[in-house]
Amino acid sequence: MASVQRDYYEILGVPRTATQDEIKKAYRRLARQYHPDLHTGARKTPMEEKFKEVNEAHEVLGDPEPRKKYDQFGHQWREAEAYQRARQEAGAGAAPNWETGAEFTAGEGADFSDIFERFFGGRAGTGGGATFRGFTAPGADLEASVRVTLQEVLTGATRRLELLEPVQCTACSGTGKQQGKVCTACGGTGFREETRTIEVKIPAGVHDGTRLRVAGKGAPGIQGGRRGNLYLRIHVEPDRVFHRRGDDVHVTLPVWPWEAALGAEVLAPTLTDPVRVKVPPRSRSGKELRLKGKGLPTQSGGRGDLFYTLQVDLPPTVSEEEQKLYEQLARLPHPDPRADLLKEARHG
Ligand SMILES: [Zn+2]
Repeated sequence: MASVQRDYYEILGVPRTATQDEIKKAYRRLARQYHPDLHTGARKTPMEEKFKEVNEAHEVLGDPEPRKKYDQFGHQWREAEAYQRARQEAGAGAAPNWETGAEFTAGEGADFSDIFERFFGGRAGTGGGATFRGFTAPGADLEASVRVTLQEVLTGATRRLELLEPVQCTACSGTGKQQGKVCTACGGTGFREETRTIEVKIPAGVHDGTRLRVAGKGAPGIQGGRRGNLYLRIHVEPDRVFHRRGDDVHVTLPVWPWEAALGAEVLAPTLTDPVRVKVPPRSRSGKELRLKGKGLPTQSGGRGDLFYTLQVDLPPTVSEEEQKLYEQLARLPHPDPRADLLKEARHG
């Protein structure tokens, strides 16, 4: 018997004597419980598997005809049917003894592989005439969120991730049963959740919302099938100093009035070490200074720019001497800085 398939009655939690109505009720209850839309994070994948399992069980047991055949032949009922038909056509004897799990190759007409495609979202291992024991199926894709800082966007980063993944229960070999009773190790599910630690590399230049594909790091495949993929959803944490716009970075740079008026060389932050920046004489608030190539990595392998927006500020305290200098400045003739504003307002 293929060890990955659990008994349909057990999956639905009903006795073999259950009425069609009882089967339908059990199915509806479990489908609601396991519905993938109701689960997130590491729980989503095992719940999806259970949901598929419940649906598969209901597809067979919910219909009296297939149910009768399932009761007789178990999971191989479709193949049994095809086999019996083939034997009858060939005028041969009875069907093999299914209970001993005789090796069996499905004929051309058997839709055996369809079952597994529906079951695991993948393809059975071999082509037409798949052998019952030889099938493989790829594992499910997993999804995880990763938060990175802007510094890490600049350099790239490595993350260790702990993923919960379903592994076949060793106590019952995935059958969910031990000596005819529900397996106590896994509660009859046939699998346990195990923590797997993996290391992933986040490339430089990622954006908030980027979805990274890490090939072959998803859930394990069935019977040697390849692993699914891992998808990383990137969240770039907002930074208090550096504001990202595409691959450019913007910084508000405060300057004193005399630095703005006379010009100055000031120390300014970059994503790495601070650099000396020239503030030209007579710079006004809002003026932008650009440091070419000091932004974030671009997809084409270059770098964005770093922009400083000057903000003319006043020191929080004023000394007596400064007070006198301001008064001196105030006495000198100046145009009204609000003249344009007042003119505009009249026309509006
Ligand atoms: Zn078990």
